[in-house]
Amino acid sequence: MTNKITGIAASNGVAIAKAYKLVDPDLSFETRTIDDTQGEKDRISAAFLSSKADLEKIRTKAEESMGADEAEVFTAHIMVTEDPELLSNINDKIDSDKTNAEAALVAVTDMFIGMFESMADDNPYMAERAADIRDVTKRVLSHLLGKELPNPALINEEVVIVAKDMTPSDTAQLDRRYVKGFITNVGGRTAHAAIMARTLEIPAIVGSEVATDEITDGDTVVLDGLDGLALVNPTADEMTAYQAKGNQYAAKKAAWAKLKNEKSVSADGKEFVIGANIGTPKDLDGVTDNGAEGVGLYRTEFLYMDSTELPTEEDQFESYKKVLKNMDGKPVTVRTMDIGGDKHLPYLPLPEEENPFLGYRAIRISLDRDDIFRTQLRALLRASVYGQLWIMFPMVATLPEFRAARDIFNEEKAKLIAEGTQVSDDIKLGIMIEIPAAAVLADKFAQEVDFFSIGTNDLIGYSMAADRGNDRISYLYQPYNPSILRLVKNVIDSAHKYGKFAAMCGEMAGDPVALPILVGMGLDEFSMSATSILQARSLMKQLDTKDMAKLAEKAVDAETNDEVVALVKANVTAD
Ligand code: PEP
Ligand code: MG
Repeated sequence: MTNKITGIAASNGVAIAKAYKLVDPDLSFETRTIDDTQGEKDRISAAFLSSKADLEKIRTKAEESMGADEAEVFTAHIMVTEDPELLSNINDKIDSDKTNAEAALVAVTDMFIGMFESMADDNPYMAERAADIRDVTKRVLSHLLGKELPNPALINEEVVIVAKDMTPSDTAQLDRRYVKGFITNVGGRTAHAAIMARTLEIPAIVGSEVATDEITDGDTVVLDGLDGLALVNPTADEMTAYQAKGNQYAAKKAAWAKLKNEKSVSADGKEFVIGANIGTPKDLDGVTDNGAEGVGLYRTEFLYMDSTELPTEEDQFESYKKVLKNMDGKPVTVRTMDIGGDKHLPYLPLPEEENPFLGYRAIRISLDRDDIFRTQLRALLRASVYGQLWIMFPMVATLPEFRAARDIFNEEKAKLIAEGTQVSDDIKLGIMIEIPAAAVLADKFAQEVDFFSIGTNDLIGYSMAADRGNDRISYLYQPYNPSILRLVKNVIDSAHKYGKFAAMCGEMAGDPVALPILVGMGLDEFSMSATSILQARSLMKQLDTKDMAKLAEKAVDAETNDEVVALVKANVTAD
């Protein structure tokens, strides 16, 4: 019988392809005393050469599929395999300790990693060196043990990726031509890997718990991202049925595509804005293809994460300029660096914390490391003349945080003007509302900001004290819970009371159950994964704002999440 695996439906569509397991093999080994030290030295030399050969292949492939910049990290890895000092230290260790190659390799590389990491606070480049050595050690060890590492950059046929988890940088390395979808053991619908899958328009299932145990490399997998179900080695009939389901979804998408150049307007003629969320300028094709009326969230941290060092002002300027020019005068909301939580930079080590999601992150880092923040703001200010720029700060909890960020922004603006650099005098400054404290105090914030953008992915997590990526407690991740709806309503009403703009850029904005309520509350802008835009526009066209206002009133007065789902289902019939 076909093995069926269920999980959380994270990105729509149906994919059928061979499984590719992105799981590291067991690289444990025993330390042994060796007489034939020359034999061990030969083994380590051979393993270094094989690793170098792998890395050269990977670099060539990465250059083709992702571009020279993305492939640079592999050049750094190749340099580690060519480092004569590293190899001679390992050889010395084999001689002095009469130990096997594996043990000597790990002892020496651990020593170098420790040394570089201890210098990383003063010089971020050292953390990067440590990360390079760690990666190369893993590869050399895999050769010594005769076990193959997965090399996602070398994939050259259509596959479905099977992994325990996908970090944002794993996802960023995927080649869209070959990766048809993915299934992971952990993660929730709003984990970044899931968001990335929606941006890439590939079906995905997360939080399956067992995918890596139940699926073997090379199995045929049907991935139904619409219902969160995967079939392993399906029968011919099942294949046919799922091909049909995939085609049906494609047909629906074709119908929505007709709305690409239309306005986002309700049945009774009220206009809204539907924007797109992007992570890099590479996502701009999806924005245009799906008829977005602006970029409602540009997650700039990917610029930092895709790099091997802090991106320069010039690098950032080029990216921001590209997005602004491409959007041709439509508003572009750029969020300043949101590092921390699950988003790490190899070259900027963050302190070990008990609760990184409640820790040193986002605007807190920017205000503490204002050197990094100022570089980003200068790049943004310089790019502002190429379009309509809105800037927002992530994870703002208090008014003084916003004021401090605004002061730094104004200082950099004044400096640039004094230097004779042109900047726009119409840049809007706003905040993300992701922390309940800010949502509750929205009426005070509204008197100082130009706009709000509600980040429901985090706002729900913090309000329910339920980690957005933890599938074990995913039942608490309740976007329609009346408590969340009341926070959202307070933010929208507060903005409007002071004539300010209320946007939402969390995944809730594109959710077909939440959207009617948000239309009823009068949210101004809905920003979402580009691939959700046309479906949202289609739904919006079928809604009457007065009816939806009544529905929203009932929803905030309900008792539970489920009650609100039932209310929407009973009151909204849309195709
Ligand atoms: C959010 O928290 O809703 C949000 C849009 O930010 P991110 O998903 O990048 O944390
Ligand atoms: Mg967030």
